Amino acid sequence: MSNTYVYSITQDNPETIYINLTNKCTNNCVFCIRNLKNPIKGKDLWLENEDVTFEEIKTQLEKYSNYKEVVFCGYGEPTIKLDLLKDVSKYLKSKNAGIKIRINTNGQGNLINSKNIIPELKGIVDEISVSLNASNNQAYMEISGCKNENAYESVKDFIKQSVENGFETTATVVTGYKNYDVDVEECENITKQAGAKFRVREWLDKGY
Ligand code: SF4
Repeated sequence: MSNTYVYSITQDNPETIYINLTNKCTNNCVFCIRNLKNPIKGKDLWLENEDVTFEEIKTQLEKYSNYKEVVFCGYGEPTIKLDLLKDVSKYLKSKNAGIKIRINTNGQGNLINSKNIIPELKGIVDEISVSLNASNNQAYMEISGCKNENAYESVKDFIKQSVENGFETTATVVTGYKNYDVDVEECENITKQAGAKFRVREWLDKGY
């Protein structure tokens, strides 16, 4: 365990860096990498505590100087720490207006925060990648390990609203994990109806 909030997965000073805001998540996906493999590419993303501050993230960002893209993605759901996410994104945009910022999310941010968070991300986030995971509610609950019966509809709505609000939006599914059968065609239809891009992530032994 270490408080690794900012990390990279390629060379020391890469163009893309990642921010690990939290280990909390409203899902418990069957294929969640944090339960299957740690560290990933040498990074242990389990945090000692959840008390991360803006200042600590700022300090860890200073290790990098070459980045052009920042992705909120770690061992948890970033919209659980919405205010911090917004503060960090604003800071990054103020330093470099051209920087590209993406959130990798389970799409439950509106449920988690009990409000529509999408308008709050305008101007500080460019791209939103949402784990759609399944083509219907039953399959979603099984794969995502989510306890909230309203989650699947909310995720689909989140994808739609993200597109409507002008974010570059991608919906993703993971295929090939054990005997979990994902109806890729139907997931693609749902995604197309929402107007988002669709991405299949194939499960490999080392992850996806
Ligand atoms: S949404 Fe992401 S962090 Fe949460 S359990 Fe699923 S794979 Fe893991």
